[in-house]
Amino acid sequence: MLHKTQTRLLFILVIAICAVAGGLALFQRAERGRIHRLFLQREQEENATLDKLLELKGASLEMFAVDYTYWDEMVRCIQQKDRSWADENIAEALGTYQAQVAWVYRPDQSLVYSACDEEEESLAGFALSEEALAQLKPDGRFWHFCVQSPAGPVEIRAATVHPSSDPDRKTLPQGYFVVGRLWNDAYVAELARLTGSTMQLGASAAGSSPRAPGERSGIIAMERKLERWDQTPVAVLDAQSVSYAVQEFNRSSTQQFGMLILFAVMTIGLVSVSLVFQVTRPLNLLSRSLKVERVDVIEKLLSNRSEFGQLARLVTRFFEQKGELVKEIAERKLAMAALAAKDEELQRSNTELEQFAYVASHDLQEPLRMVGSYTQLLARRYKGKLDADADEFIAFAVDGVTRMQGLINDLLQYSRVGTRGRAPEPTDSGAVLERALLNLKLALEDNRASVTSDPLPVVLADDRQLEQLFQNLVGNAVKYHGDGPPRVHVSAQRSNGSWMFAIKDNGIGIEPQYYERIFQIFQRLHTRKEYSGTGIGLAVCKKIVERHGGRIWVESTPGKGSTFMFTLSAKGA
Ligand code: ADP
Repeated sequence: MLHKTQTRLLFILVIAICAVAGGLALFQRAERGRIHRLFLQREQEENATLDKLLELKGASLEMFAVDYTYWDEMVRCIQQKDRSWADENIAEALGTYQAQVAWVYRPDQSLVYSACDEEEESLAGFALSEEALAQLKPDGRFWHFCVQSPAGPVEIRAATVHPSSDPDRKTLPQGYFVVGRLWNDAYVAELARLTGSTMQLGASAAGSSPRAPGERSGIIAMERKLERWDQTPVAVLDAQSVSYAVQEFNRSSTQQFGMLILFAVMTIGLVSVSLVFQVTRPLNLLSRSLKVERVDVIEKLLSNRSEFGQLARLVTRFFEQKGELVKEIAERKLAMAALAAKDEELQRSNTELEQFAYVASHDLQEPLRMVGSYTQLLARRYKGKLDADADEFIAFAVDGVTRMQGLINDLLQYSRVGTRGRAPEPTDSGAVLERALLNLKLALEDNRASVTSDPLPVVLADDRQLEQLFQNLVGNAVKYHGDGPPRVHVSAQRSNGSWMFAIKDNGIGIEPQYYERIFQIFQRLHTRKEYSGTGIGLAVCKKIVERHGGRIWVESTPGKGSTFMFTLSAKGA
């Protein structure tokens, strides 16, 4: 179970870690998305700026080619090969339009005039190739392409020449005016300065920046191709600009993410440590304490105010109670063993006593009978023949023997209750009472006694012993009668699976202090002169009832009568 709890805690912790990791990943993803959008926006802006600048720069060169080519003077210059006019107007204008070379051709593409920026010496003597010249055709009007020169790529703008009266260039071309701008380092540097980026002109697009462009570095890479008339690239302009916003965004996002990870790790660490200290450790201690059954293991937990402290106190209490219980059980076992030994001893001595009483009374009968017959013989033969004392002595002896015989008979009867009893079986107690009354016939008649009874039940009993019981109780009821003739009533009523019998008389009654004593053997409340008897009758009754698992007791009002009650098991109860 403990193992299970730990596994569960670990499982929950792993789920928590996964949830945190998932959350962080989502956060990271959202941040990347924002950076990506920002970067795209900046990229678009940078590209638009570059395009605008190139357009603006290109416009001056275009203007140069366009403005000079619907001009009568240009037509005349071509027709008359007026170099001085060209020097004055074209060579001088190169700087104005930021052009480095210019050529004027006749319609048959023969060169009329060429000018070159004096500062660009490497361009001196540079001429358009035949292939390039072949592009200038009468059916075209404007041209824009690049060519490669020894000094670098040259952007070319060309237009057909027409008179001033034909600004729409509807007439046939009078010649061709070609201007070129050299894309040298200075020009590229100027472009770079104007766009706020770094630029480089190369044969291919491969950048030489130490940092790769992209969202992570915040570097925006742009590329513009300088192409020939047939779209063959002459050179590639490689521009890179840095988006500080993207860089800043990247930096703060990384910082935030790092802090979040740190926070998550710290939280998870804190939770793990507190789980170990607050749950796992106390659980381990409790489990170990229960396993090795030692309270000192959880001593530290006892002062703890948490549920584990409560559990520890409960466990301690449990051990204390267990100790007490074990002690109590041991004591009880000892007591029970002592009781069993005593019981055994008692039973043994009881059996011995019964045996002794039986043997003694049985063996005494024979000599006593002899003494009895001879004393009676003496009385019969010598009554009146000896002196008066002798007659009295013989009478005493006869009486003593008779009493002794009564005593021995009763004692024998008492000892036989335990040894000669039969197994109880369903017995009609009414019929048994009838038999008992028959035995008492003489005594009943002598005392003019009347005995009545309710219908009596069938009970589980040894019928002979039940007969003895009735005989003793009804006999006593008649014997201990009051002044009037004895009235005895026998009844029975059902109570809790057994029957309670009552033998009620109107005799002399018994004082309450004798209620217990009269059931003991040889206990009598009267002298022999008042009432005959041996004091064994009620002891026999008690023994019979107890042998049947019942109880016997008396209730009485002295001078008015007594009721003897006993219980017997009902049939089938
Ligand atoms: P016994 O009758 O031989 O003396 P019992 O054991 O039968 O011996 O009775 C014990 C004593 O209980 C009697 O001596 C008598 O005093 C008293 N006793 C018994 N039955 C009654 C009764 N029905 N009414 C009054 N006293 C009684």
